[in-house]
Amino acid sequence: MNLRGLHLLLTYQCNLECDHCFVWGSPWQDGTMTIQDIRRILHQARDVGTIDWIYFEGGEPFLYYPILLHGVRMAAHLNFRVGVVSNAYWATDLKDALEWLRPFAGLIQDLSVSRDPYHGSERSGRQAEFAQAAAEVLGIPLAVITIAAPEATGAAAAVGQLPPGESAVMHRGRAAARLVERAARRSWADFTTCPCEDLRDPGRVHVDPFGYVHLCQGIVLGNLFRTPLREICAEFDPDTHPIAGPLLAGGPAELVRRYGLQVEEGYADACHLCYEARRALRERFPDLLTPDQMYGVPAESEPTT
Ligand code: SF4
Repeated sequence: MNLRGLHLLLTYQCNLECDHCFVWGSPWQDGTMTIQDIRRILHQARDVGTIDWIYFEGGEPFLYYPILLHGVRMAAHLNFRVGVVSNAYWATDLKDALEWLRPFAGLIQDLSVSRDPYHGSERSGRQAEFAQAAAEVLGIPLAVITIAAPEATGAAAAVGQLPPGESAVMHRGRAAARLVERAARRSWADFTTCPCEDLRDPGRVHVDPFGYVHLCQGIVLGNLFRTPLREICAEFDPDTHPIAGPLLAGGPAELVRRYGLQVEEGYADACHLCYEARRALRERFPDLLTPDQMYGVPAESEPTT
């Protein structure tokens, strides 16, 4: 595996609970990296030898502002190129956005800001605009990421990292629970490839606050708090991995066939089938299909009403 990027899910917490969120971000989620966790992860990233980009994302990483800034400084100090992904909730006006962003000037090479109906329409649009204007003043490269509505047919699904501009919604995580009713359905047998990740050589992986290294959100390669990332990468054999192997051999449909899973009438897209198949397989592969946060299991702190 030739890893070029490592994406740190600084926290599973978010100020919002967007319907399209892959990682079920919400105010009630558990799991946030400490400075010590970030330091360990960055040193492991350096030891891999091929990683040049570190991204900080979540959840919403600006919720833990001093820790985010500390992490960004450490990553820049280790000569990584650094990116941050945010919903820009903090950009209440231009002057304030400048205050939030000024410490990052010269340290980050990409600030990706979400702007779409899922993030709260008009207010989110204004916040993205203030963040964009402040980033321009400070010379911080900024990209706006937009996810299309489930009914939209024109937007293409992104492969790997979400690019600037509009991408189609992928029905995994909370989107698999909240958005599928609005999408057209197709037979499970149609989904014979994974269209959105290069599972053989992903280029970038995510690491969460518990140390899990994710090939796609909720498909785990190992835990870098137990096994160094360099070893996890060296030992990853995509064809024999119990989840990646079938996905490579015949997409989510092959997961269903290989493990004899029950299917429904139709699915919104490959990710929808994949996500539901993996949910059904969690008991069988508890170390590979984890943590609960990625599968919408309510946190203890979540209100029940
Ligand atoms: S098909 Fe599965 S592995 Fe591929 S991007 Fe979708 S959820 Fe991830």
